[in-house]
Amino acid sequence: MKTYKRSGKFFIIGLLFSLIGFSLNSMATEVSSVANNKVKRILIVGGGSSHDYDKWYKEADLNLLNALEGMSAIYTDNTDSIQHYLKNVDLLVLSNNQPIPKASQQAIEKFVSKGKPLVLLHAALWYNWEDWPLYNRLFVGGGSSSHEDFQEFKNRVVNSGHPITEGVSPQFSFKDELYRYAPGPDSEGVEVLVIGESLETDEVYPVVFTVKHPKSKIVGITLGHDENSHLDADYKKLVVNAVKWTLNK
Ligand SMILES: [Zn+2]
Repeated sequence: MKTYKRSGKFFIIGLLFSLIGFSLNSMATEVSSVANNKVKRILIVGGGSSHDYDKWYKEADLNLLNALEGMSAIYTDNTDSIQHYLKNVDLLVLSNNQPIPKASQQAIEKFVSKGKPLVLLHAALWYNWEDWPLYNRLFVGGGSSSHEDFQEFKNRVVNSGHPITEGVSPQFSFKDELYRYAPGPDSEGVEVLVIGESLETDEVYPVVFTVKHPKSKIVGITLGHDENSHLDADYKKLVVNAVKWTLNK
């Protein structure tokens, strides 16, 4: 009886150690699997005039990205806050039509110089910021100073072999503003993936492109004025592909 009790105690103590050991082991496994499949954090910046940012960037595009496995996106229209968010962000998506203060400009420059990627949507591809010429030169690879009237025009994939155009219709149309985007003379250059065909002239303009940068992956999509684009399957595919491509090492 005595022996039984003692061995019972040892058995219980042994069992406790085993349980503690097991739970420590499983915790370690869980932590390492989280580290290996780390959730990618995305910050979308919007806000400013002429667009319904809450509806199409804070709601539609944010939901689109948060539905992707392994991604977690947040939205802000407070450009002061960019500098604070960037410390914990893997990808910055800019769509804002409002100025970015100096401290956040510097934080973005540091972010990109460390090789962190950028996706630039619609208004973020404008020549907007006289106090920040480096933005257009290094990140936009040029810019847009005007656009054609809001109307339906034809977009054509010109590089179907790129991961960003995978699964996108070879030609697609919806109502939008065709930005008269042009690469800048002092930029590193762009690789054009989709062009938009003017209805007003014989011109074509890049509407989806990558911007050459020594360290970072940067994608520009000039489309995205309102619901006509944001609810379109090809637009959504381009945004999702662009985000995945920039985050894929
Ligand atoms: Zn617009």
